[in-house]
Amino acid sequence: MFGDSITRGYSPLLEKSFKTKHAHIASTFVHAGIGGESSRDGVLRMKQYSGMTLVVLSFGMNDSLFSISEQEYEGNIRQMIEYFELVGTRVILLTLNPIDIAGDDRCVRLNRVIKRLAREYCLRLVDIYRAWGNEFSDFRQGLADAVHPNESGNELYTREIMKVIPRKARIVLWQYNGNPAECNYVCPYCSYDPKTQSGHHFQGTIAAWKDAFLKTFRNQYVIFYFGHGEPMIGKNWPEVVEMIGSEKKWEMRVISNLSQDPGHLIKTEAAKTGRLNVNASFHPTIVDREVFYSKLKQYQDAGINIPVVYTMWPPFFERFLDDLQYFSARGALVHLRRFRGWFKNKLYPEAYSEAERRLIAHYTDRATIKYMLANELTDGELTWAGVDFMIIDNQGNVGYCDDFPTSSFKFGNVFAGNVRLLLTPNPFPGKNVSDGTVDGVACLLRLDYEQLEGNHILHFSRLGGVYHEHDNIIYENRGLDFSDPAIRAEFHFPPRNLVDADYIFKCPTRSMKSKMRDIAHLIS
Ligand code: SF4
Repeated sequence: MFGDSITRGYSPLLEKSFKTKHAHIASTFVHAGIGGESSRDGVLRMKQYSGMTLVVLSFGMNDSLFSISEQEYEGNIRQMIEYFELVGTRVILLTLNPIDIAGDDRCVRLNRVIKRLAREYCLRLVDIYRAWGNEFSDFRQGLADAVHPNESGNELYTREIMKVIPRKARIVLWQYNGNPAECNYVCPYCSYDPKTQSGHHFQGTIAAWKDAFLKTFRNQYVIFYFGHGEPMIGKNWPEVVEMIGSEKKWEMRVISNLSQDPGHLIKTEAAKTGRLNVNASFHPTIVDREVFYSKLKQYQDAGINIPVVYTMWPPFFERFLDDLQYFSARGALVHLRRFRGWFKNKLYPEAYSEAERRLIAHYTDRATIKYMLANELTDGELTWAGVDFMIIDNQGNVGYCDDFPTSSFKFGNVFAGNVRLLLTPNPFPGKNVSDGTVDGVACLLRLDYEQLEGNHILHFSRLGGVYHEHDNIIYENRGLDFSDPAIRAEFHFPPRNLVDADYIFKCPTRSMKSKMRDIAHLIS
């Protein structure tokens, strides 16, 4: 915690909060806030803090007292950023909180500089100034005097920084081969029209892509996520894997039907250094279970923990428990996806019967039940999408997430070097959470999930109560009684009667919009 007296004020609380919430992470906090210091002082003592994993950097409140110009301020912050990046320390920037001094616009001016630098260096920003406005109806409510936060102000600092610390990487849904893209399967429940699942649409050269990504994301952690068509059959796939393996701060996540021989992939640099995460989509209408497992086992034998993604298309209910047992016995966690679309003139997931809905809920994680199975309304919910989660098409255009074409969200283009991502979470602009990605759901602030690390599906499941423990797979929701109206309301099950509707209405964790939708559904 590197800064002035304001840093000194909140940093003990931040340490306590971090150690309580992340007790499993060994951490040492250095409280390096010194009262009265300016950005000039920061530059003078920054080298005392080499060897840190993370620095939360905040200076500026005292700069005007030392006649430090905006230009010098910018230069000082820049020097600190570059020094910490050089020694391998992750940097988080903070804007300054509002102050109660008439006519003094230092916060507004310096915050502009801080935001500009956050964009330029692709750093994560905690926008305290903005959070202050959202938290306090009168900004003085968070101040102990004209400048310093009181207890409520320090709590706000702590809460806001705590949200950003676990979000280290930029997650890029990279449609490297286009979208739709070549797929060698034709699944009856595919969310893309099978007729369009063809062709190789990679554009440019791999060297140009690497250069563009490095210029856009600088030396930040980047996770590339592949899930359009069958990524492993794209013509340029080997080069893409090599490219990611060549940068130590890059990793990859792949959703694959495992139709390809993994022999080459598991020998790549990304695989050898634990940066290759593969999720296996099981498609029983196309592939035999034993054949599918024989491929999956090769990854397991190479030390890659690979879960099975299983879409609950209605005809699969008959075989699901047998498949679950089969894969579980072989150490593969099954992650259930709800089917979205039409089957026999019924629209899913709404059309799932009560028994089908309960079966899915017993074997999946909480967020999948509440958001994907319930097709939950999320418009207006704050999300990290557009901040550290984005989609990039095969021409380098950067968009919001999988739910929207890149053309509808113009965050720039990696080749043009003009990418401007959001700095803070914004309201989700669409109706439902992302259909295709667990990251899209995990981006919802309300869930309070950490950024999904390693294999995102395993992590997402674990945060929602489905995980490996020793040789077992634990399903925390298996024992839940989904006939209980309180549990139904909490898990966004549709109401059966007025008692259920009453519980939904009183449920403290549901948004009013979500409650009204379910109750309206019952009435209709
Ligand atoms: S493997 Fe995936 S992308 Fe290909 S058809 Fe099946 S569901 Fe669609």
